[in-house]
Amino acid sequence: TVSAVPILRTQKLTVRFDEFPAVRDVDLSIADGELRVIIGANGAGKSTLLDLLCGKTLPSEGEIWLRDRNITGIGEAAIARSGVGRKFQTPTVFKDMTVLENLQVASNRRVRVFQNLFDRVKPGPNDKEIAVAERTGLLGSLKRKASELSHGQLQWLELAMVLSQDPKIILLDEPAAGMTAAETDKTAELLLDLAGSHTVLVIEHDMAFVRRICETITVMHQGAVLAEGTAEEIEGNPAVIEAYLGS
Ligand code: ADP
Ligand code: MG
Repeated sequence: TVSAVPILRTQKLTVRFDEFPAVRDVDLSIADGELRVIIGANGAGKSTLLDLLCGKTLPSEGEIWLRDRNITGIGEAAIARSGVGRKFQTPTVFKDMTVLENLQVASNRRVRVFQNLFDRVKPGPNDKEIAVAERTGLLGSLKRKASELSHGQLQWLELAMVLSQDPKIILLDEPAAGMTAAETDKTAELLLDLAGSHTVLVIEHDMAFVRRICETITVMHQGAVLAEGTAEEIEGNPAVIEAYLGS
């Protein structure tokens, strides 16, 4: 059942660095199960918006609501525990561990510190780890060291680690950055598959990629929301063309 209350909502969300407003008065409303794409030029405030949503950065003004709960200022760990999963642009996997061990750290089945000292018996994958690995194309790589993965596989592993934490909403910052054309294709398919079971908010600048994966686009410009609509509406919007697409 789809709730009428948006899963994620912001009200006049603003952050200033010194005097500079990196994000200004952003009112965002993400419905349950939505796959929303945020586009905008470099420096438009997209990553800072995600930093605010996951609690990494505190807003100067405004509010963030997860369903009917005001999560403004509750802190990054508490926000993560309440179901907001964030994948950063640069992978944060443990390179000296296997794919499976990384998934186990993410779901708290394994502690990171001194794990090699204490592991007499290495636990095999459970059903959930198998499902997550299958979904992200890593099932055949569970025993490989993360350091042996391709750039694309590393990105998928990080996404798999986010999925292992059972997020209600997933925030992705340029998930196809630096990928080959084939990896980008696979990532688009992965996001479409994810959208079937999760709410996803993704920053992306490649319009071909965006057209393929999304229903609603939010355009940011100089920290504020400039427009919102379908790819067709956005690409025909003179203000968007002038500020972003025309360049
Ligand atoms: P985008 O992701 O859309 O490219 P960012 O959110 O990274 O843009 O940055 C938006 C603006 O905020 C940029 O002008 C950037 O320099 C500035 N900014 C981001 N983070 C900080 C920070 N921690 N301190 C000062 N300025 C910042
Ligand atoms: Mg960015």
